[in-house]
Amino acid sequence: MKTKNIEKVTRPGTPHFVGDGFRVHNFIPGTSTMQRMDPFIMLDYNSKFNFPATDKPKGVGVHPHRGFETVTIAYKGRVQHDDSSGGGGIIGEGDVQWMTAASGVLHKEFHETEWSKTGGAFQMVQLWVNLPAKDKMSAPKYQAIANAEIVKVSLPEEAGEVEVIAGEFQGNKGVASTFSPINMFNVKLKKGGKTQLSFPENYTTAILMVEGAAKVNEIVDAPEDHFVMFKNDGETFTVEALEDAVILVLSGEPLNEPIAAHGPFVMNTKEELQEAFQDFNTGKFGYLED
Ligand code: MN
Repeated sequence: MKTKNIEKVTRPGTPHFVGDGFRVHNFIPGTSTMQRMDPFIMLDYNSKFNFPATDKPKGVGVHPHRGFETVTIAYKGRVQHDDSSGGGGIIGEGDVQWMTAASGVLHKEFHETEWSKTGGAFQMVQLWVNLPAKDKMSAPKYQAIANAEIVKVSLPEEAGEVEVIAGEFQGNKGVASTFSPINMFNVKLKKGGKTQLSFPENYTTAILMVEGAAKVNEIVDAPEDHFVMFKNDGETFTVEALEDAVILVLSGEPLNEPIAAHGPFVMNTKEELQEAFQDFNTGKFGYLED
């Protein structure tokens, strides 16, 4: 099989705050990057950051979403989500929350109250996964995926393990249900550990270095907190940990549909965006208490 070559290694840019609880680097900024990263339309990465103790949990208050899914992966810290469709819950280190906003929800995202009282190291990813046009107006859904439910595959020679959140690694399927083919893994390698990953040539593929550094395809160094984007020119790539590493691997089949995006809404046409604003303003997204 042919090698997937590297298109670009991106360092974490200047962070910005989402509400007062998420200090993030957006690795999929702007419409052109969204198109290129199809079906991944946003990647907010809260690199390790210490939040001080507080009795007033930090986060982001009630806001709407329509047309896509939000996937939150907790590496450090604990967050609580609530949405207007009745979904929600608390996720902690190693857990994943997969929320399908689809036709529309209101939700809020805060640090967990108990965790906030002590504060500490916080590290999280929020990824937006686009929905196919035919599914954008389907019913909202919520998948809380505790770490214990995540399929773990041991690598040979004690190189480490692969957590399969969604998709399939060497015949092992993740529990998350998706609307289009998505692979999402946490590859955990010990220093010197190496593995090969393989996805169809046309899939949009990238990795985020959540912990440690790695050598990719035996030539390129990927430092901590950097994002590596692959070209659509082959199937396989290798990662070798230069120190103990955690690598978030994303690979998905492009939807190849038009994107009309504004703030919390991602649709296919301008008219659908206007409809989303109108529905939100007339209360059609339901109700959620502040
Ligand atoms: Mn949100």
